[in-house]
Amino acid sequence: MEENQLNAVILRRVEVAPGLIILTVRPNGWVLPDFDPGQYAVLALPGSARRTELSDPEPEAPAPDKLIKRAYSIASSSKEKEYVELYITLIRSGSLTPRIFALKEGDGIFLGEKFKGMFTLEQVPEQSNIVMVATGTGIAPYMSMIRTEYKERPNRRFAVFHGARHSWDLGYRAELSTLAYYFKNFAYLPIISRHEDEKEGWTGHAGYVQDLWRKKTLESIWGVQPKPDDTHVFICGAPAMAEEMSQLLLAEGFREHKKKEPGQVHLERFW
Ligand SMILES: Cc1cc2nc3c(=O)[nH]c(=O)nc-3n(C[C@H](O)[C@H](O)[C@H](O)COP(=O)(O)OP(=O)(O)OC[C@H]3O[C@@H](n4cnc5c(N)ncnc54)[C@H](O)[C@@H]3O)c2cc1C
Repeated sequence: MEENQLNAVILRRVEVAPGLIILTVRPNGWVLPDFDPGQYAVLALPGSARRTELSDPEPEAPAPDKLIKRAYSIASSSKEKEYVELYITLIRSGSLTPRIFALKEGDGIFLGEKFKGMFTLEQVPEQSNIVMVATGTGIAPYMSMIRTEYKERPNRRFAVFHGARHSWDLGYRAELSTLAYYFKNFAYLPIISRHEDEKEGWTGHAGYVQDLWRKKTLESIWGVQPKPDDTHVFICGAPAMAEEMSQLLLAEGFREHKKKEPGQVHLERFW
């Protein structure tokens, strides 16, 4: 593998919780492309890169020179031109994430020079409310949308449903809680599935993000339950959650958004 394949550098590595990091990646001598909030970048490392000791041993070593590439939603604002921020969970048995988790600040990484994806606000009408539903690192594309767009659309209602196992796995909680504190039209609803593990006690929502929708939690905040004619719903993260959430929405008259058949339900499945 040629050294120049590692065309970017880790600027910052923040450990959010065990197995969860926020990485800031800066291109090395090239300019980041323009992108729409919600799009993803490709990160890669060669098979020869070291794996973190927190991961499982690989049954078979991959080709040392070949780049292992995976998609990661961009969490930083599209107005940020110096770096991209990514929010990544460690898959212990995985190929790439154990190698990414072994990196330190200053290490090289491959960053694809084009950012792609249809999971954006592009086709959402200006006045439409937006509900963003995520599990785990599925919050990443919403951070980019919020950081880029929110302050420019003060009249639109935003709601973020974020599901994780524990309170300490709720990445970006401080930033989202702050927005909810200062802005009346911004609702942040974190929900955890293993509340019995919380030593400090947990007084927030317990269960799964789908439960927040089922229990019409937004109605008690907005005064009305979101409807297909006033709200677009974004869903990102685990496929099982995406499936269940979209079934709930379809039963209420929402339609899945496709480029040629516009609807109000936007889906991004991470695997
Ligand atoms: C459009 C898109 C955007 C993505 N954005 C992100 C992101 O912002 N952050 C992120 O961490 N991942 C994201 N992913 C997933 C990422 O591309 C990799 O699949 C993931 O990092 C695992 O890579 P790996 O090589 O370590 O595991 P692999 O060897 O490829 O193993 C893949 C298996 O790991 C599991 N898996 C994959 N992703 C997750 C996850 N997030 N949580 C739990 N289990 C998982 C599934 O069982 C999957 O079959 C995204 C995927 C897509 C398609």
